Amino acid sequence: MTLNTHPALPEFEYIRPATLAEASDFLSHHSGTARPFLGGTDVFVRMRDGFITPEFLVDVKNLDGTNELRFDPQAGLTIGAAVNMNRIIASADVQTQYPLLAEACLSVASYQLRTRATIVGNICNASPAGDTIGACLVFGGVLHIHGVKGLRQEPLSTFFLGPGQTTLKPGDIVTAIHFPIPPEGCAGKYVKLGRNQLSDLSIVGVTALGHKDSTCSSGYRFHLALASVAPVPLMPIEVETYLANNPITLDAIHEAARLAFEACSPIDDVRGSARYRKQMVRNLSAKALTEVWKNLG
Ligand SMILES: Cc1cc2nc3c(=O)[nH]c(=O)nc-3n(C[C@H](O)[C@H](O)[C@H](O)COP(=O)(O)OP(=O)(O)OC[C@H]3O[C@@H](n4cnc5c(N)ncnc54)[C@H](O)[C@@H]3O)c2cc1C
Repeated sequence: MTLNTHPALPEFEYIRPATLAEASDFLSHHSGTARPFLGGTDVFVRMRDGFITPEFLVDVKNLDGTNELRFDPQAGLTIGAAVNMNRIIASADVQTQYPLLAEACLSVASYQLRTRATIVGNICNASPAGDTIGACLVFGGVLHIHGVKGLRQEPLSTFFLGPGQTTLKPGDIVTAIHFPIPPEGCAGKYVKLGRNQLSDLSIVGVTALGHKDSTCSSGYRFHLALASVAPVPLMPIEVETYLANNPITLDAIHEAARLAFEACSPIDDVRGSARYRKQMVRNLSAKALTEVWKNLG
């Protein structure tokens, strides 16, 4: 096998539709040969490396509402598909109401990459390693999708079907992600383990969000999301149930971390072995949950 040390981008046709309807129409009529793109930080790399060879790239930035970043104290936060990660990190509303989202974005590569990369692109790429997906899951994100039949909404929790596989159909374009108002006094933490501090995908990523909840017998509700340890981003419900029903102590947190260890099914790859990943899920889940619990006071 010869190694191509100077891979080039294959030729493609750039399509810039004027409306969402036009974009969905084009994509549905060129299913298999056209795909939408935002920052292009996944698409262009995969094209250069020969994994995908679309004839048409449909630029869905600048279409109705996709550049919007809006917080409403009653309705919550809407992040348009084309809003890049640096804009999210810099948003005062995100910093005060959803700081975990900013923390997750900050863990992605470098400042330069984040001027292009978007949360919606991270989600639609559907890599189990996507660093921002966990925060979007624990905040109860809902996708706004424009398809050939118009607009619909879909919870992020049911969106992923496998690595690179989602429920999107030909012609579908995610236009935004919406988050409800976060639980009062909640605290969150993202712990990312990579091979280096900068610009590496996660070997394991653990997102935790917790808040007081008088409807739980423990008085607290925790949500945990795990990256890079299953075919899809994973929310082990066992952890949430256990911590809702048992008094929160350090022992209880370690038992919850063990449940996370049991729930995941990682693979061996260039970034780490399955065995190492499982151990790290236990250690980092304990770390993230402990920090969140401490911050809840
Ligand atoms: C050097 C480098 C470092 C990286 N480091 C990290 C990292 O640390 N953590 C991490 O999680 N990722 C990392 N990535 C991957 C990538 O940057 C992220 O996944 C990014 O969030 C993708 O966003 P984008 O806007 O560039 O997506 P794009 O590349 O534009 O699109 C991504 C995918 O989503 C589809 N898509 C795009 N827009 C839509 C839409 N509106 N509706 C439906 N489908 C759509 C595209 O067809 C494509 O399949 C890195 C990439 C590079 C090149």
